[in-house]
Amino acid sequence: MAWFKKTRKKIAAAEKPTSRVPEGLMVKCPGCAQILYNKDLTTNLNVCPKCAHHFRLTAAERLRMLFDDSWVEYDSGLASTDPLGFTDTKQYKARLKAGAEATGLKDAVVTASGTIDGVRTMVAAMEYEFIGGSMGVVVGEKIARSIERAIDERCPVVIVCCSGGARMMEGALSLMQMAKICGGLARLDRERLPYISVLTDPTTGGVTASFAMLGDLNIAEPKALIGFAGPRVIEQTIRQKLPEGFQRSEFLLEKGMIDLVVDRRDMRSVIANALRFMGAKRNEPVTLPAPASTAPPVDIVDVVDVVIPPST
Ligand SMILES: [Zn+2]
Repeated sequence: MAWFKKTRKKIAAAEKPTSRVPEGLMVKCPGCAQILYNKDLTTNLNVCPKCAHHFRLTAAERLRMLFDDSWVEYDSGLASTDPLGFTDTKQYKARLKAGAEATGLKDAVVTASGTIDGVRTMVAAMEYEFIGGSMGVVVGEKIARSIERAIDERCPVVIVCCSGGARMMEGALSLMQMAKICGGLARLDRERLPYISVLTDPTTGGVTASFAMLGDLNIAEPKALIGFAGPRVIEQTIRQKLPEGFQRSEFLLEKGMIDLVVDRRDMRSVIANALRFMGAKRNEPVTLPAPASTAPPVDIVDVVDVVIPPST
């Protein structure tokens, strides 16, 4: 009965038509769904020329956008030691390695000094591609050191936030960075040196809850997600529908949480003008007089200490 058995070839999958457009040449804008030339986008500071959608920048692109020319990078060798030996769905060590391979950095921030329109400034730019721009011990240490360097050299500080919050793989150690950076910023403030916080998409969690909101000027990019907890968590907690545009820059500006919403193409000149307004000078470090009073800063305990009479 051999004629019943037909030897058939399996149905082969159709060959994928090969695209003649090389990969990475075009990109689709999530704002207006237009197809854009990557080259056009790069020359426009990664802002869509059609609808002004702001694409995310890497830390290096951010520094290139802010500084006049070259810059000096600090503490690039600092790397996390995985102090808790942490493992979730993946080993933390493996995540660090993947982050380093994706970005060429050792952690999620680049700190550098250079000039912004002639004003010498310390800039810390966060890198989202490195474990979601999360703030661990290294991020905290690098930012704290750059603030201390700014105090020594009497120049202003700009921090560009782009972060999912504190790095939970370092547990409480990552949360301590919030206090450490805020302490540094308080010293910077006592030295009467300006600090500008630039909030980009996204700025959330422990970063929003600490240094991102402490700027003498808090400037956000348009339509950036800025918040502490995500909208889903808030909706589940308060059992209410959240308003349109909640946690976006424009909404926060309307509610008085931030000072300015600035298009990335104007960001450098706005920052330079603000720094000069706050006392920085072109081509020289800020030379503001030291605080007149040498009295120690007000101890917070003195302010809140209330004597409660013994109950009878
Ligand atoms: Zn667009």
